[in-house]
Amino acid sequence: MHHSETRPNLAQNLDQALKQYFGYGAFRPGQRDIIEASLNGQDQLVVIPTGGGKSLCFQLPALLQPGLTVVVSPLIALMQDQVMALRDNGIRATFLNSTLSAEESRFRHNALFKNQIDLLYVAPERLMGEYFLETLNELKERIGITNFAIDEAHCVSEWGHDFRPEYRQLGHLRQRYPDVPMMALTATATPRVRSDIVQQLKLRKPRIHVASFNRDNLYYEVRNKNRKTYDSIRNLLKETTGSTIIYCFSRKRVEGLAERLNEDGIVALPYHAGLNSSVREDHQTRFIRDDVRVMVATVAFGMGINKPDVRLVVHYDLPRNIEGYYQESGRAGRDGDPANCILYFGSGDVGSIEYIIQQKPDEDEQRIARQQLQQVLDYAEGTVCRRTIQLGYFGEEFAGKCGNCDNCKNPKPIEDWTIPAQKFLSCVARCGERFGSKYIISVLRGSKDKRILQNRHNELSTYDIGRDLTADQWQLLARSLLHQGLVGETTDGYRILKLNATSWQVMRKQRTVMVAVPPKVDVDDIDVPRRRRDREELAAGSELLFEELRALRKRLADAANVPPFVVFHDSHLRKMANKKPTTLPDFADMPGVGRSKLEKYGPDFVQVIATFLEQEQ
Ligand code: ADP
Ligand code: ZN
Repeated sequence: MHHSETRPNLAQNLDQALKQYFGYGAFRPGQRDIIEASLNGQDQLVVIPTGGGKSLCFQLPALLQPGLTVVVSPLIALMQDQVMALRDNGIRATFLNSTLSAEESRFRHNALFKNQIDLLYVAPERLMGEYFLETLNELKERIGITNFAIDEAHCVSEWGHDFRPEYRQLGHLRQRYPDVPMMALTATATPRVRSDIVQQLKLRKPRIHVASFNRDNLYYEVRNKNRKTYDSIRNLLKETTGSTIIYCFSRKRVEGLAERLNEDGIVALPYHAGLNSSVREDHQTRFIRDDVRVMVATVAFGMGINKPDVRLVVHYDLPRNIEGYYQESGRAGRDGDPANCILYFGSGDVGSIEYIIQQKPDEDEQRIARQQLQQVLDYAEGTVCRRTIQLGYFGEEFAGKCGNCDNCKNPKPIEDWTIPAQKFLSCVARCGERFGSKYIISVLRGSKDKRILQNRHNELSTYDIGRDLTADQWQLLARSLLHQGLVGETTDGYRILKLNATSWQVMRKQRTVMVAVPPKVDVDDIDVPRRRRDREELAAGSELLFEELRALRKRLADAANVPPFVVFHDSHLRKMANKKPTTLPDFADMPGVGRSKLEKYGPDFVQVIATFLEQEQ
């Protein structure tokens, strides 16, 4: 079964198969080992971050062995996309789910029994249905089942963020088919979920592959949220060639921002759970097919979006936890090309999230949510490498100095703010530890606010001694004091400042206070990097041809009713625009061109390139 006679040449064979079926010249990290272990019939848990190339790990072995590989996938959309991409590569894949007519279903069943299918995608509830299990038994006898690939395997765990009860049933597969190896795949980073997967699926001495969660093609930046944020986003959109997702906190915010962008001539579609499903599907399709470049969405837009060429993910509002931020921002740059992840952070967001947390009925839930919020704040306000914070959250040690985040590129100067800190803390003391930072700042800045006058806090010695700093600067100090633990606050939702032992040390001049201060330059003036060394850059004079190739790709994609990225990735087109192959053999050497795409698209592309060269002369 395992083609042992080909072992000596396995390495070479795998390279050849990779080029022939998928058009790629080299494996991504981990892929080769996973594929070899799979060919050896081992159970595996594969943990690779989004964009790392998980699918190939079960797809290639499926093509190199006789019999059927059964892929379990939680979402119909995901299934359809993968099957579409595989078929475009000439690979014999199909899916079975509830969207098919009885006739189409029967047709596909027949194809399975005629041994015309290598990869079958199926939803868990269908797979574990009595009727289908019988079919599966029969298939196993007549065709053979090579492997079960459980995609998005974290859905099996209640500890994960996408728990699906149907996935629990998959535990029975092991009893029913003890001799069929299983591969579980996920991008979930938490160790708890991983061990849950192994247990629930009853993996047998699984080989566990955990890749680094560092996505080095992503640039992370946090910007201040202020009056200019909308303009700043508009500028980002202008600078970005390629698709963008903008995440907002609520449906209302989504609608508002999408509307405003459209009024300003930037076509953007909204997506949130309040839209009915046909609208959602329509918007998603238009985004995926490059008809519309900008999607404004709540986190409802997410899993199942495997568009590889998203170039920018903006968080217009604060995400609720780090894992969420990692997954959402991680939808950028799956193709490995550089992409940007920009988070806008304003202290106002903290209040909104606090409010939501207060609505939670359960105290434990509240506590967990508060802790998660605190971690997000540590990220947003952190002055060290953003990657160190993110990866640290997942238990991965990262040396820092990544060179591809705002804090590494423009380190914030650390300043001695002991004196303002003393003023601030003594104002807290003099106001009787009964107020939040906003009120304290108003007193310091000599506000004539009614509440202040009523409380006669205009008579305090700390009244009006803080006009040398702006309200924003005081706010920065307040946050920094909180984070450094130099002052506390109540967690009853009112965030009343409370002094602690260290606060008194500061006031007694026994302790200095250092604060990381945002650079004076406007962050929008800093160039977001769009280049990385190992990316195929367009050579001078290739831009026009690149645009023509993009147009050709869109025409072919629309005709075949597939998204453009299924035909070729941008990076593939750039290479073609640079190398300008005008013969089919030369075209076959291009990345992304496998045997099937060569036949299907080669002639059109070669012709457009040849015509372009003629016209140039
Ligand atoms: P994941 O499921 O891990 O998020 P995918 O399987 O969707 O990732 O792969 C991400 C992208 O990388 C896809 O567009 C895929 O075609 C591409 N890819 C996968 N393996 C390779 C490879 N060896 N060389 C080049 N591109 C690859
Ligand atoms: Zn960094």
